[in-house]
Amino acid sequence: MADIFSPTERSRLMARIRSHGNQRTELALIRVLRAHHLKGWRRHRPVFGRPDFVFPQRRVAVFVDGCFWHACPRHATQPQHNAEFWRRKLAVNRARDRLVNRTLRRAGWRVVRFWEHDLTRRGERRIVARLQAALRTPA
Ligand SMILES: [Zn+2]
Repeated sequence: MADIFSPTERSRLMARIRSHGNQRTELALIRVLRAHHLKGWRRHRPVFGRPDFVFPQRRVAVFVDGCFWHACPRHATQPQHNAEFWRRKLAVNRARDRLVNRTLRRAGWRVVRFWEHDLTRRGERRIVARLQAALRTPA
């Protein structure tokens, strides 16, 4: 499908989209946390890798990864314009995710990552189960 934006508009648009901490997905996760009475979380704490949520007492770090920016296997799209630039950029993002996971785990954190596409009504039960498991298990 042809891009409805010019290359310049497209890069400007992409630059404005944050790689994580997407407002809409964060609010969706907050709704899930509240609905299931999961307590003790904080947002945007200055923790390595800037997790979207942390449970400081349980040392659980939660990330909600955007399907495009983190190259979700189901929804990742390969921009046609500047293909090489995007291929490299998304590879760097994935490498950074792995570095963040490793660093946090070594520091005694449990890391839970959700995809943007997990945040649906149907995905809710799995999200809660994964969070509860992480909160129960000592790091
Ligand atoms: Zn996805």
